[in-house]
Formats: sequence, C-alpha cells, structure tokens
Amino acid sequence: MDTELWDAVRARLAEVNAPAVGHRGGPGTAAYSPYLLSGLLRCGVCGARMHAQTVTRRKRGQSYAYGFYVCGFAKDKGPSVWPHRTWYRRDRLEGSILSRFRKAMTPERIETVARTVNAHLDAAVRQRQTRLSGLKSEVLRLETEAARNSSAQNRSGRGARSPNTWTATR
Ligand SMILES: [Zn+2]
Repeated sequence: MDTELWDAVRARLAEVNAPAVGHRGGPGTAAYSPYLLSGLLRCGVCGARMHAQTVTRRKRGQSYAYGFYVCGFAKDKGPSVWPHRTWYRRDRLEGSILSRFRKAMTPERIETVARTVNAHLDAAVRQRQTRLSGLKSEVLRLETEAARNSSAQNRSGRGARSPNTWTATR
C-alpha cells in the first residue's frame, strides 16, 4: 500500500476517534458515515470527493440496498458531466482496498494504530472527567448559594425551605 493511502486511513481513524468531532460538524459529515471510504476517495476525472449512495431495489417482493460511490461533482451537476457518472459498487471497492490494507498491516503499523486510538480514548476520558468536576463544583457553588439565600430568608422570618430540603428535592 502506498504511503498516501496509509496516511489517509490513519487520518480517518484519528478523525473517527477524535473526542471533539462534534464541534466540526453534526451528523452527515465524513466521520459519522457508515461508509468506510467516505471523504477519502476522489473522482478520477475531476478530483472531487466521491459520495456514498445507497440505492434500494425491489426484487421478487424483497427490497435490497446497494451501496455505491459516485463523483460528488456529477451528483450535483446532473447528466451533462457523463464521464464522471460511473457508479462503483461499495462492497467491491471496499473489499479490494481492505485486502490491500490487510496485506500491508505489519505488526509495527498495527501498534501505531492501537497507540493512536488509545491516545484518543484517553483524551476523551480526561475531557469528560474535567467536564464532570467542573459540573460538580458548579453544583456545590449553587448549593452554597441556595443555603445562604435560604438562611437569609429564615432570618427575615419568611419560612423558606432549609438547605437540606433543597438538596434532597433537587
Ligand atoms: Zn468527477
């Protein structure tokens, strides 16, 4: 496998595993696509990104879904750009690339991928813990504030709830 493809696959792995992926775009971006090669393949005629398409066909009362990759430019421009309009079967394309990928996977490369994925997972966990402790101190701050307000109201004789009640009913 050539280095370029390997780099692209590694970048995609990083993208899929990146914890901050939600900030770069919602569902429907390449990282969320169930298609393995979304955002990686480019049209041989114009260089536009290949789009993944699912076509459903009915055969003898059964419906079958077929996946294809097609030039994104052709998809937008319609039939006037006919040289781009080849539809590539998803299973064949992915199958041939996966078999090349499998052959190219040396133990060193597997280790690199594993390390990359682990680093992203660690970062995601750390980010979540930071967010959680931020929320905890915010809750504590609000509880303290509520207790202060409540005891101020008690002193002024308006019979507000005690801090304990407030905490329990939260
Ligand atoms: Zn094209």
